[in-house]
Amino acid sequence: MGKQVVFQRCINPDCAAEYDVSEVIFKCPKCGDLLDAQYNWDKIDVPKKLKDFGKRWANRNLPLDLSGVWRFRELLNFCDDKYKVTIAEGQTIMQSNDEVGKFAGMKAGRLFLQYEGLNPSGSFKDNGMTAAFSHAKMVGAKSCACASTGNTSASVALYAHSCGMKCTVFIGSGRIAFGKLSQAMDYGAQTIQINGDFDDCMKQVQDVCMKLGLYLLNSLNPFRLEGQKTIMLRIIEGLGWEVPDWIVVPGGNLGNSSAFGKAFYELKQLGLIKRIPRLAIINATGADTLADMVNNKKLVWNNGNVNNKTIADYYADLTARKFSPHTCASAIEISRPVNLKKCLRAIDVCNGVVRAVSDEAICDAKAVIGKYGLGCEPASAASVAGLKLLRDEGIIGTDERVACVLTGHALKDPNVTVNYHKEKQGPFSNPPIEAPNDFDQIIKLIK
Ligand SMILES: *Cc1c(COP(=O)(O)O)cnc(C)c1O
Ligand SMILES: [Zn+2]
Repeated sequence: MGKQVVFQRCINPDCAAEYDVSEVIFKCPKCGDLLDAQYNWDKIDVPKKLKDFGKRWANRNLPLDLSGVWRFRELLNFCDDKYKVTIAEGQTIMQSNDEVGKFAGMKAGRLFLQYEGLNPSGSFKDNGMTAAFSHAKMVGAKSCACASTGNTSASVALYAHSCGMKCTVFIGSGRIAFGKLSQAMDYGAQTIQINGDFDDCMKQVQDVCMKLGLYLLNSLNPFRLEGQKTIMLRIIEGLGWEVPDWIVVPGGNLGNSSAFGKAFYELKQLGLIKRIPRLAIINATGADTLADMVNNKKLVWNNGNVNNKTIADYYADLTARKFSPHTCASAIEISRPVNLKKCLRAIDVCNGVVRAVSDEAICDAKAVIGKYGLGCEPASAASVAGLKLLRDEGIIGTDERVACVLTGHALKDPNVTVNYHKEKQGPFSNPPIEAPNDFDQIIKLIK
């Protein structure tokens, strides 16, 4: 594959098998490990400075220049423009927020929130889907499928519709937030609700895709992660093309963290950035596989020679205990993250740290984010809760520049929000005040 602009390569250094970009395989047929999209950069006309990408703002009447993903297209150069599917994803702007910063222990002007809830389906997943669907179109796929905790299905359903593809989404029983389920149904996806959790759905969907030849849209799909790299480019753009000190992101299936690590590695390699920021990945305590394996089992990338036995033993123990993850942050309620190894690589590249935060900490952070003007779903707030924890531990300094990724929209999961406020679950609860239907008494109540 040495001469091609782009190819797929197995991440296992002992295998490192290479495959054509047009192969629809998702896992290395030789060893079963994950695949990357790899580029021969000298064959791609990459702008000399990141700033040059900013010029595309002037052409935003052109769909590919309007897209917050495709305006960085040279950095994810795996298909011709004619295959690209876009519905103006990535129109997100990073915002500085001193009140949320104060809550987390940051000095003024140091905390930035990258609100990905502004995407067409209301979560960052659209950054990945625009890329994966472009690949699907390139290889002529007619039907696709995904397993989902909710947002993947919403995004898949939206993009499948916009490029005329049939789609089937697999969700677990009962654990999906209402906003997300409503989207999958409304956007016309065939929705299959399996009697099990996300990890069960993930296993089923891989087998079903293999058997029926459906195009798989989970973050196992390396092209999806190519699209998600651009979230980091927009953060750098938001800082006037400077790199922050820290990126903080919730960790579920670990696609985002993997994509972010790859983005920074490539930008450094290309000489487009001088320094790689540190990465903090935040689990929920009820779904803390990554935190447990990294911090307690000392699992590391080790130049790609990951200790597979540690992982196998860990999962065998989860199975033996019939463990099912549990958190109100349903988007990260995952105990067997498919991108685990790529995430270990990202931790290595970015000198990363992993932490787990409680549901209470997540809900408090979410209420603070909401109160000061952005709002997000529970999983997203794990980033700010994680930042607060890392500030308390002294790992992140009060005047470092931090970008927290708010992964999904506040309206995705109204139940968690309403319960927090109405049932006065935390110090930031803002319940409605009951009032008689009486003018004078109402007047007295208003402060
Ligand atoms: C999918 C999702 C996550 C988890 O992202 P991964 O890339 O799977 O780690 C976090 N937050 C929201 C809102 C999501 O939809
Ligand atoms: Zn392999």
